[in-house]
Amino acid sequence: MEEQQGQPWKPVVLVLVFWALSAANVYFCWCYPGSSLLASASHISSLLMCVLLSFVLAVPTIPKSRKPFMQAIWYTILGGMLPAAVSVSLLQWRHGELPEPMLDYFENVALFLVAFVLLALWVGGVDTVGTWGLQPLAEAGIVSWAPVAYLQSTILWIVTLYNLTHIVGSVDASVQQDLPLSLQVIYYVIVALWLSSLIRVLCTRPGQPKDFQGSDEQPAQNGQNWLFCIFCQSQKPPRCRHCAKCGACVLRMDHHCPWLRQCIGFGNYKYFVMFITYSAVALLFKAVTLLLFSIKAFQTEITFCTKLWLVCTEILVIALGGTMVAFSGFHLFLSSKGMTTIEFLTRHEKSEKKISFDQGVLGNLQASLGRIPLFWLLPACPPSGDGRNFPYTVIPQELESKKDQSAESRSLALAAPPTKSSLKENLNQRNSKTSDIRAPSQPCLQSTAEPTCLEQQQDGCVAADGFGEDRVEDGPA
Ligand SMILES: [Zn+2]
Ligand SMILES: [Zn+2]
Repeated sequence: MEEQQGQPWKPVVLVLVFWALSAANVYFCWCYPGSSLLASASHISSLLMCVLLSFVLAVPTIPKSRKPFMQAIWYTILGGMLPAAVSVSLLQWRHGELPEPMLDYFENVALFLVAFVLLALWVGGVDTVGTWGLQPLAEAGIVSWAPVAYLQSTILWIVTLYNLTHIVGSVDASVQQDLPLSLQVIYYVIVALWLSSLIRVLCTRPGQPKDFQGSDEQPAQNGQNWLFCIFCQSQKPPRCRHCAKCGACVLRMDHHCPWLRQCIGFGNYKYFVMFITYSAVALLFKAVTLLLFSIKAFQTEITFCTKLWLVCTEILVIALGGTMVAFSGFHLFLSSKGMTTIEFLTRHEKSEKKISFDQGVLGNLQASLGRIPLFWLLPACPPSGDGRNFPYTVIPQELESKKDQSAESRSLALAAPPTKSSLKENLNQRNSKTSDIRAPSQPCLQSTAEPTCLEQQQDGCVAADGFGEDRVEDGPA
């Protein structure tokens, strides 16, 4: 970070170098039109070299950056935009004058660059806007809505592009583009389920201990340890976590989702799983049908604008679809294992007594998706229960350094709660392993399983969970 601020010229030089290389590539192509296979291959490889070089140069530019890869993506966007714009403009202005092989070449270059820039722009946008959503909701104000707006506008954009291509059929009169009626019906059913899941997850609260518990009522006796949350100054049932973003304890907390601007917990987990699963299904459907259509269209005489349109739509669908397929696969796996994301990430932690909520695949799916399997795939009929009591088994664990851990816990409990500034600093140095307020025993794992949500959990851990769990109180049992 410091080096970045001290040497602001570095990214500028990098972008200039990239532009110069791209310009040289365009000039080379202009002078030596790619009439032969060899010439075409050399043009494409020089273009790939430009992109590769920008990555290689960008990564060490900011050595202390928390995400060098993301920096590289942003530079590549800056670097790729100019040659992409030049190529597209050239095709528009001098279309009639260009020889055929050169026209083909520029078309390919433009399609490649536009697709590349669009993909980088989307990935960079996800990372940047997602970071805004990491702030506590009360402090972030209107900024906390940015990730929601970003996700929703991407979905809206994709649906619009796809419908214009396939349903309205306004792409190119020369290509057969309507979906068969049977596929259209399937498509509308999937989209209806997708959107209703989205509405349900946005409108359903995850549930808090007080939702199910009178103010002076004692927690139910279930033999499990109840914890004490020092932020809410109240007891919390097993699997309940304090979310630093929402500033509240959340029943069976899975993770805080900045893209939906709320916690995913006991009350809305099913709708969340339905939303990401139907997103994956809908986007896969779109990706396959659009790809088949594009292959057919590219073999016919279509204009450059049509090609550009198809490539852009396909890139967006694949970018979001790939993310959703991985994400929904992960959550369906967790559902079958009877784990929350937090429990999955902290599963290797050593503790005196480990509690498993595994009830077998059928029981676990019933606990996540509802009792009746017939309704599992509907964004309705959530699982029953109060979110506080769960069937469990105790797995005995060998404790290696019980003394050390208890000493650590004590020092952690005595430490002052994190201030707003320390939280922000932690946000900036999320990858730093020597954070002042994070003890080594805290359940904040470095894992790539679920980056955005993991970041949320890390902050949540720092803010509360570590502290809360040190004051484990046996339940009234
Ligand atoms: Zn709390
Ligand atoms: Zn939350």
